[in-house]
Amino acid sequence: MTFRVFREKNTVANGLVIFFLTAFLCAIGSHLRLPMVLSLFWIVNAVIAGLFIRKPWLHTPLNYLWCYGGMVANDVLFSGWAMESFTINIANIIFILIASCALNRYPPYLQGKANIRHIMLIFPVCLLAALACGLWGALASGGINSGIAFMLSAGDWSSEQFSTGLLLLPLILTFYRRSDYHWRLHSLLPIGSVILLLAAAIMLGGPGSLALPLPGLIWCALVLPISVTCLMTCLTGVAEIMLIYMNIIRVSSGFLPSAVTPLISVRLGIAALALTPYMVAVSLEAIRELNRQLATRANYDFLTRLLSRAGLFDSLTRQPFRPGKTMGLILLDVDFFKQINDNYGHDGGDLVLREISRRLAGSVVPSARLSRFGGEEFAVVLFECDEPRLYRQAEALRLAVSGEPFTVVQGEIPVSVSLGTALEIAGEDKNWTTVMNRLVSVADSHLYSSKRSGRNRTTPVWQEPARPGEPDID
Ligand code: GH3
Ligand code: MG
Ligand code: MG
Repeated sequence: MTFRVFREKNTVANGLVIFFLTAFLCAIGSHLRLPMVLSLFWIVNAVIAGLFIRKPWLHTPLNYLWCYGGMVANDVLFSGWAMESFTINIANIIFILIASCALNRYPPYLQGKANIRHIMLIFPVCLLAALACGLWGALASGGINSGIAFMLSAGDWSSEQFSTGLLLLPLILTFYRRSDYHWRLHSLLPIGSVILLLAAAIMLGGPGSLALPLPGLIWCALVLPISVTCLMTCLTGVAEIMLIYMNIIRVSSGFLPSAVTPLISVRLGIAALALTPYMVAVSLEAIRELNRQLATRANYDFLTRLLSRAGLFDSLTRQPFRPGKTMGLILLDVDFFKQINDNYGHDGGDLVLREISRRLAGSVVPSARLSRFGGEEFAVVLFECDEPRLYRQAEALRLAVSGEPFTVVQGEIPVSVSLGTALEIAGEDKNWTTVMNRLVSVADSHLYSSKRSGRNRTTPVWQEPARPGEPDID
């Protein structure tokens, strides 16, 4: 049984969890509060917005109320604020509302299938949400009596929400537990490079040093799963903001306009830099997904879902080659299939092809590779088998098809197949595809013999095949 914090039906329990989670995250934010009132990282808004996007059924007016309650409760209990907390926290709700409404139309994030458009959207959405949140926050906390103080407060508030949102939301939205990525020791190299580059940034100092970890993050984006790239980008951004705040990385503020404190500028810069690794990771994931789709299309037959001819050969190139190992091939061709098409229509023909595939799949040994080799031809490849076994397998396939009539719309029809077989002990060829090409030629001539001698039969390997031009046997 899996443990889930949120369950769709448990409305009250969900609300309570949101209330306590919000209060807890607000308490963390309050502890990170700077001397000038605002928090260094106010993570609650991005986390709750991420939660509402990941679980759209949590995105309800009632849960906004629970969330708002958690914020106010934290302020009343721990910050000693009373009435102002009711107005100030509306700023946080504004951020959550804008981000959740704009991004929750894209559930593909959740399957790790975010595309470049989704990631690009996070940038303007976070900007808009942060600006609205910052303006309301500055208005509610200090009013507009002093223009510069208002601008500074709004800038501080917005830049913090913008960078925190942009560092956290992609991580929350792309986090996906089931990844098919296999971790190896060298997977740690890009992560190590980010740490080294961050160390170099500390030693070098100056505004340019902020961009130093970028090549490491792009390396992460190229080779690691997208959620790891998002995690590394988030950690790097957080570390840089902390290092600058603690004056460990020194950035000069000499040329900055008065309303833009160094921290505001740094946050904006880090937010802009964070977009690059996200874009690289998402673009690469899109290319990989496209390649997977193309490979599936090329390697599998659409109608029968069996391996296609290309897919069969592709699988043989990946089969370890060992001289002395035997490879057997059975080729099947449906008898008088053109008549089936003519009498029962193309749809009837397709139905028969699908049913043949089902019967063949149910009658081949598990180690065999079954493929739709061409129109109404099928191939079965077997390794490590001898001539009698190959023949028995071929006969089992033939009987699976001809044993029972096929049901089409118009009624029941008998269908049969003719088969040809071939077997070879691998020599010095070095690969199975060369052996396969020879086997196809031999099995094809045996198949031709089966057709010539009356159809619905198997010509075994040990029988001399008929040559084109020879008179029919029956
Ligand atoms: P034989 O016993 O000599 O093999 O006779 P046949 O009628 O089976 O042989 P022929 O090669 O003349 O006909 C094969 C037919 O298979 C022709 C083609 O229209 C049909 N065919 C090929 N692919 C498909 C398909 O995907 N769906 C359907 N319905 N028909 C197909
Ligand atoms: Mg044919
Ligand atoms: Mg045929």
